[in-house]
Amino acid sequence: MHDTPSTGPHDLAVVGTGVIGALTAYYACLREPGLRILLVSHGSRVHGATALSAGFDTLTGRDEVQRELALRSTKLFDKLAGELPGLPRRRLAVHWVVARSGAAALDATLAGGSRTTPVDEEHRQALGQVFPGLRVGGDQVLLSSAPMAVGGPRALADRLLDHVLGRPGSMLAEGFRVTGIRRDGRRLELTAADGSVLTARRAVVAPGPWALDGPVADAARARGARVKKVVAFHVLTPPPPGAPALVFEDDDAFLLPDEPGGRWILSITSPDWDRDPDGPLTIGPHDRALALALLERHVPGFVPHLTGGRVFSDCFTPGHLPVVETAGDPDVVMAIGGSGSGYRLAPALAEHALTLLYGRTTAP
Ligand SMILES: Cc1cc2nc3c(=O)[nH]c(=O)nc-3n(C[C@H](O)[C@H](O)[C@H](O)COP(=O)(O)OP(=O)(O)OC[C@H]3O[C@@H](n4cnc5c(N)ncnc54)[C@H](O)[C@@H]3O)c2cc1C
Repeated sequence: MHDTPSTGPHDLAVVGTGVIGALTAYYACLREPGLRILLVSHGSRVHGATALSAGFDTLTGRDEVQRELALRSTKLFDKLAGELPGLPRRRLAVHWVVARSGAAALDATLAGGSRTTPVDEEHRQALGQVFPGLRVGGDQVLLSSAPMAVGGPRALADRLLDHVLGRPGSMLAEGFRVTGIRRDGRRLELTAADGSVLTARRAVVAPGPWALDGPVADAARARGARVKKVVAFHVLTPPPPGAPALVFEDDDAFLLPDEPGGRWILSITSPDWDRDPDGPLTIGPHDRALALALLERHVPGFVPHLTGGRVFSDCFTPGHLPVVETAGDPDVVMAIGGSGSGYRLAPALAEHALTLLYGRTTAP
């Protein structure tokens, strides 16, 4: 294979142009302004899990490592907002329905030492206007936490890609499905399904739900990665301005106001494992039954409005802890395991991937 001016070798290939890949490429530009970056997607620019993501950014973690990632990501999101004004990101109040016996465990998941507080009767009445028929089981409590954030993952990724592609020497290869990455002397060869080849000195692979079918498939499997369906329903009734989110902690589900869309998003936990992102992915009757049962239990006034939604799959890793590590070559790093909440952790994951390749963290 002979390099041509348009094919490289680039300094860094980023395989995957979802939110993790886009952030990786953006941070790479900030660290090394002269870096020639090759962006690679097997589809169009932003078409995977990121394109359908609800963008809820809860400052929580199942364990200390995840809480650290969430805290770091929040700092980096705030920094991004300063660097790229106009990004869709806003703070909103968050309330929680949780078993009384689980309240202390919920507090333990909140990052940065924050704690929930009980919702008093007056506030509860007001929430009943927003969540019609609001019901909390006798063994449950309704709590408030510090405000959290909601962003626009697709718009963010698009904006970051624009920034990277505005740099001389950066390039986007769409429709290029990488089947393997192999070393050829001082460079890496990325081979596509059709036999074509691109070259780079280093590579970050952020393949989202395609982790099990591509250049890091073996490494991902070895770390226990699997693919699962993620479903977010639409509740077609407009949220009032400034509406809060409501998290059903014991159901791993939430209601998020989508004010620009004039609807609510009801995210549930699908039980459908091993769903190929290239296969037909639909919201099935069992998903709807789960969503209806949840609404009937807690917000019956929303039941008539449950209509359609968005569905895709994501890569889940054990303990929902993302994996960012080298894969088969010291110059190849994989960043996998969004586990249904990869948007909120994406900045810290991207930063970590570059630290493995270039050896230092970004300021601040
Ligand atoms: C319906 C839904 C709602 C969600 N809601 C939330 C939420 O509220 N909050 C939250 O934090 N997270 C949420 N998530 C999860 C979050 O969106 C994902 O974890 C995150 O977007 C994953 O980003 P990614 O960059 O890893 O993958 P993706 O966005 O899927 O991007 C993968 C990229 O890799 C490329 N690629 C893969 N394999 C290859 C290959 N072999 N060759 C070339 N290119 C390849 C693809 O073309 C694509 O560009 C949600 C997900 C879904 C589906």
